[in-house]
Amino acid sequence: MDARLIRVRGVVQGVGFRPFVYRLARANGLCGWVLNQENGVEIHVEGEAAALEDFTRALAKEAPSAAQISALESAPTQPANLTEFVIRDSLRSGTPTVRISPDLPICEACLAELFDPADPRYLYPYINCTNCGPRFTVIESLPYDRARTTMRRWSLDTLCEQQYNDPLDRRFHAQPVACPNCGPHYLFESAEGIIRGDQAAIDAGLDFLCRGQIVAIKGIGGYHLSCDARNADAIHALRERKFRKEKPFAVMVRDLETARRIVKLSASAEELLCSPARPIVLAPALVDLSGVAPGNDELGVMLPYAPLHHLLFAARGPDILVMTSANRSSEPIAYEDEDARSRLSSLADAFLIGERPIARRVDDSVARAGALGPVILRRCRGYAPGAVTTLPSDKPILAVGADLKNTITLVVNGQAFVSQHIGDLDHYEALSAFKETIHDFVHMYEIDWDDLTIVHDLHPEYLSTVHALELPAHTRCAVQHHRAHVASVLAEHQMFDRRAVGVSFDGTGYGDDGTIWGGEFFVGSLTEGFERQLHLRPAPLPGGDAAARFPVQCAAGFLSTLEDLPNLLEPPFHFPTRYLHAQQLVQKQQRTFTTSSIGRLFDTVAALLGFTREITFEGQAAIWLEQLARQGSPDAPIYPFPFDNNMLDYRPLLSAVIHDRLNQRDVRQIARGFHNSVGIATARAASFLCEANSIDLVVLSGGVFQNDLLLAEIKSALNSTSFDVCVNRSVPPNDGGISLGQAAVVALGPACEISQRQLNLRSA
Ligand code: ZN
Ligand code: FE
Repeated sequence: MDARLIRVRGVVQGVGFRPFVYRLARANGLCGWVLNQENGVEIHVEGEAAALEDFTRALAKEAPSAAQISALESAPTQPANLTEFVIRDSLRSGTPTVRISPDLPICEACLAELFDPADPRYLYPYINCTNCGPRFTVIESLPYDRARTTMRRWSLDTLCEQQYNDPLDRRFHAQPVACPNCGPHYLFESAEGIIRGDQAAIDAGLDFLCRGQIVAIKGIGGYHLSCDARNADAIHALRERKFRKEKPFAVMVRDLETARRIVKLSASAEELLCSPARPIVLAPALVDLSGVAPGNDELGVMLPYAPLHHLLFAARGPDILVMTSANRSSEPIAYEDEDARSRLSSLADAFLIGERPIARRVDDSVARAGALGPVILRRCRGYAPGAVTTLPSDKPILAVGADLKNTITLVVNGQAFVSQHIGDLDHYEALSAFKETIHDFVHMYEIDWDDLTIVHDLHPEYLSTVHALELPAHTRCAVQHHRAHVASVLAEHQMFDRRAVGVSFDGTGYGDDGTIWGGEFFVGSLTEGFERQLHLRPAPLPGGDAAARFPVQCAAGFLSTLEDLPNLLEPPFHFPTRYLHAQQLVQKQQRTFTTSSIGRLFDTVAALLGFTREITFEGQAAIWLEQLARQGSPDAPIYPFPFDNNMLDYRPLLSAVIHDRLNQRDVRQIARGFHNSVGIATARAASFLCEANSIDLVVLSGGVFQNDLLLAEIKSALNSTSFDVCVNRSVPPNDGGISLGQAAVVALGPACEISQRQLNLRSA
């Protein structure tokens, strides 16, 4: 008789792991026990050596599909002469470092039961099992047990109790288990009153949707505002009420068939769409749903993931629903019922409210099947709070990210947990959510503030920086924005010592010299640090942040460095007079900053090709330019974009664009030519740095690389070289990835670099 003690780490709680172990042990005739611990699952098994061998091998190989095993340790131990195999109560000691499972979409087995009239959970919107259902959005604290979830106020009836306690049942220890008899329900609220009963509430909601009205629907991580995606009036009303002029709305479709009819789906896009995270997938639109994504060639589509969504589509209602986060423009999504009722009363005509509380807000994720593989553009439901990588660091680290598209990262026992997307911190609500999320994470993993290293951006006026300096901490460090972008890629790919040429292109980030960076080439590694070796030639930027909203204002800065400019107020340019005011600011050196941002270069070219108005959402001009370029042909012109003196000189490039525009060349060809040229110049500069520094890896990160056409151009320009190209996979290339990069720089890099500026801030 032998015995073994086995410890399993990773996503192993709330995914049916213990019942799986139980069944496996019994099948192998073994005795012992299994229990949940703060840092994973612990198993004691005893029996014949061969059976132990089989058991251990099958543990990793046959684990439930939602489980992710990161480590499995097995050591011999003393047999205790046990007579059966049991599941023990959770053990509580030390610091919890177990990985919390992200929320899972309804599984096939539950879906079948949902529509089986003979099933006790027929048409029940809270059906779930150990293979599916909510996790992160119901967990209040660890370890994961019903008493520490938002389901604690519903006690189990006989049916649920029996299934919960039966190790052979699919619902064994399914913490959110519920049935119509004992669990929460949905209700419908409108001016006409309250309708109770799941099916009656859903029917009433559908009536409203069919009549072109807007319904706030409580889902897994918050409320959606929903309307019929084929009803242009409803969409128009939604835009008016939400103060959202043009930013595309996501839609939810009945099924994959419907998705295929409205967007062009590649095999990898379909895979992404059907993946357990069920993200919104951006894909080329095949139909024009008026007002859903105005002036945009892409449509964001997702499949139903909650039982409620399936119930909505199963009835006779619309087959495509707008499903947008319930908030006013840029505010965080509403997730608490009272807050939703007050904040959304002027936005929604009615409410479809579920009684199960949501522990924390988690928006829908957004992804795309890109030229270099799948890209996550917004990382939330289905992904968060999964660990994205492990870092060789024992110290707990909290990285607070950037001010736009904020996320935070907490490193515990080397595991890097990246939070859900929080939003833009200049909105009061988002700033509060940011502070809440920090406390949520630090509390969840029971980190002592006095042990914590807090990392923030180098920008002294970022709200995230200011807050980081107010929090208690053991140590505080600043990491430069564009280094963090590059570091995020290397951290994800666990390339700790590997030297790379890091290309960091985005709109704005605070540079070492206090100017606005955004077109940077670094050389180095996570362990040795990153040296800036090449960058875009700096240009004046009149008006600072306002320039990001007005492409012609960027243009005034960049074009001021050119000779022989035509009158841009005249055809074919038609610049508004704002351009002249901006020009004056540059001439007088008033409120004029210096920038090396590629994002602003894209804005400038967008202005030259016709985008001369104010943007209504971040990145709009660049997206417009990319879509224009896609309509051009690949054999479009290639413009000169040389580098020398470690600077990429945009002046010949802009002169050529203006020349072509004056000669009435097709703007689609010019836009395509611009993309070709930036791609080729980037590849050439990166190759040059690789050769000069004996490096064979190019890393691309930063918001500009959300531009898939540019990625494809760089990739094809680098094809003739032998360099590896690496991009973000698990975190977004935009500022949503900054917190991971910050954490990695501090976990691995040379001692904290604290500049004089930071020291001043700290003493202030
Ligand atoms: Zn299920
Ligand atoms: Fe950035």
